[in-house]
Amino acid sequence: MTPKVSRYLRDFAPATPCLVLDVDRVAENYARLHEALPAARIYYAVKANPAAPVLGRLVALGSSFDAASYEEVEMCLEAGAEPARISYGNTIKKERAIAAAFSRGVRMFAFDSEPELRKLSRAAPGARVYCRILVGNVGAEWPLSKKFGCEVEEARRLMLLAEELGLDAYGLSFHVGSQQTNTEAYKAAIAKAAMLFTDLSQAGVNVRMVNLGGGYPVRYRAEVPEIGEIGEAIMTAMTDHFGNALPEIVIEPGRFVVGDAGVVSAEVVLVSRKAQDDPVRWVYLDIGRFGGLAETEGEAIKYAFRTPHDDGDTGPVTIAGPTCDSTDTLYERSNYRLPLALEEGDRVEILATGAYVTTYASQRFNGFAPLAEHYV
Ligand SMILES: *Cc1c(COP(=O)(O)O)cnc(C)c1O
Repeated sequence: MTPKVSRYLRDFAPATPCLVLDVDRVAENYARLHEALPAARIYYAVKANPAAPVLGRLVALGSSFDAASYEEVEMCLEAGAEPARISYGNTIKKERAIAAAFSRGVRMFAFDSEPELRKLSRAAPGARVYCRILVGNVGAEWPLSKKFGCEVEEARRLMLLAEELGLDAYGLSFHVGSQQTNTEAYKAAIAKAAMLFTDLSQAGVNVRMVNLGGGYPVRYRAEVPEIGEIGEAIMTAMTDHFGNALPEIVIEPGRFVVGDAGVVSAEVVLVSRKAQDDPVRWVYLDIGRFGGLAETEGEAIKYAFRTPHDDGDTGPVTIAGPTCDSTDTLYERSNYRLPLALEEGDRVEILATGAYVTTYASQRFNGFAPLAEHYV
């Protein structure tokens, strides 16, 4: 938790549940990433946190943006981003959303299939397009399975077709899965992309960009590799495969830029046991899966907690949200322990919740209001 967030919580004690996010920390994270990968252009993945103060700060720093929808394209434009700095990176788009983005000046689009490529040729004629390939997600705590990307052979065919359709066959992309803690995943993906890149160049395609996607991890309960280490692994792999003829490099960080800038402040609603002698207490908070902590599904992302009793003895707990839905249980199997002194009414902080929380909050499930947000 940054000093600014902790001061804000102390001085204002805003109603819970809420997210408090330090926008200076976003700028620091952006700078750290730029330092670790100076050769890469940064396209912030807007979906991680699209709040106007975050986007505005990143515009001021010269960031580019990766938008998942036309609505996100609009948010970037409203924050002052030049259309030339926006990439429409979702491989699943309505044709009229492509046309709308194109009419606002967006000229860079992702695809991973022939029907999508044909949509682009109709709705965004002549635009820069890049093909997303399937790569392994091993090591990612929030993997993306096979939903996005295509096989290398198919990508080769589609890039040739892109040129035939009058599009600018600009590059290749991949995503190694979010919260990727294994640098080998980037190396393997780069090797795969580089082979195809070389092959396409030899086939006469004017391919010149490699988009390494997102995945850069944030520290939650467990240690993760430093961003410098990841940057080194990436640049070593890039020079191994491309030598001095490095292509343009794009990265699309989401979680890394905003994750550790934010803290959710929540209240304990109830501490109970299923039997008097049950060692495990159930701790119910006023935020759960439907209040925005969607990434606790499968206990994938393991957030760290702060309580007012952290000096005291702890015991095992199951942590759950406040709604009448049994899937609204955050952690049952991940060996969470919380202080024995914890009681209803206590405020707890859920750390590093700046990414993938506010926008995952349901509208009014069980009547609860969407998560409040404070940008400081
Ligand atoms: C979600 C997403 C990102 C951001 O991923 P992080 O793991 O948050 O860095 C980047 N690129 C694409 C295409 C995405 O879908």
